[in-house]
Amino acid sequence: MTRHQPLSAMQLPRFAEMGTFMRLPRTRDLEGVDVAIVGLPFDTGASFRVGARFGPEAIRRGSVLLRPYNASQKVNIFERCTVIDYGDLPVVPGFIEDSYARMEEGLAPMVDAGVIPLGLGGDHSITLAELRALSRRWGPLGLIQIDAHPDTWDAYWDKRYTHGTVFRRAVEEGILDPSRSVQVGMRGPIYEPDDYEQARRLGFDLITMDEVRGMGLDGVIARIRARAVGRGPYFLSFDIDSVDPAFAPGTGTPEVCGFTGYEALVLVRALTGTQLVGADVVELLPAYDTAEMTAMLAANVAYEILSLFALAKGERQGSA
Ligand code: MN
Ligand code: MN
Repeated sequence: MTRHQPLSAMQLPRFAEMGTFMRLPRTRDLEGVDVAIVGLPFDTGASFRVGARFGPEAIRRGSVLLRPYNASQKVNIFERCTVIDYGDLPVVPGFIEDSYARMEEGLAPMVDAGVIPLGLGGDHSITLAELRALSRRWGPLGLIQIDAHPDTWDAYWDKRYTHGTVFRRAVEEGILDPSRSVQVGMRGPIYEPDDYEQARRLGFDLITMDEVRGMGLDGVIARIRARAVGRGPYFLSFDIDSVDPAFAPGTGTPEVCGFTGYEALVLVRALTGTQLVGADVVELLPAYDTAEMTAMLAANVAYEILSLFALAKGERQGSA
């Protein structure tokens, strides 16, 4: 069986053959594949700045310095997992429901083949397509959402499908189980006093950034793990605006006083033992980025998610 490997910088320098995540092979051959990196370059679900359609390309470019061995997690991702870059799915700019249909259709071959999709956004509206596609196989999913915003509002300008309404829609569609779901990092001014309470009434465990600072990162991690470990299949959705704009300025709806880049990686690393069947990194908007810092952080978050998949596969094979 072919075990795909990223190109080695010892063989061909990093600035050559760019264009895929970690310079992995770009292929749609799913034979023997564990994880497929897939771009979802849709951004007209955004309520403020647009341009996250260029996120997948920027994350790939930001990934070329990544090396195969994760020293923090003590795992060589590509010894455990066969990973490909599937390329991008077709979207229809400006037409969200048409885009949902095409993205869901585009994800189906991966889901049917038991390949874990790791989506690169795109604004956060794309996650609904991923949840629709994955729930066909797995039933209602639990959600771990790291984000400055709960994205559980009902509508923007009477429009029900936006990047700020995606998780309310998912609950309504029965593809997300809020009683198993947790949202972390919410902060900044909101519209109404009970915006967060609305999410909690839907069933989410919502942890604001004020609460994060109160209980500390260890406390947050314990609360997420108590909710998610051993509780069935999960989707991990990482909105890059969860990170402080000082570390991640390249995003569509920035909120001051978020996680540091390091805290973001620690949070993801702590999700070992959760049954992740899909994940995404969303809301990277490269036009507002500085020195590719947000793109590189987004790529590192994706790398930590890949490491979780590698560790989980090792556990299943008894080689961890
Ligand atoms: Mn979001
Ligand atoms: Mn957000």
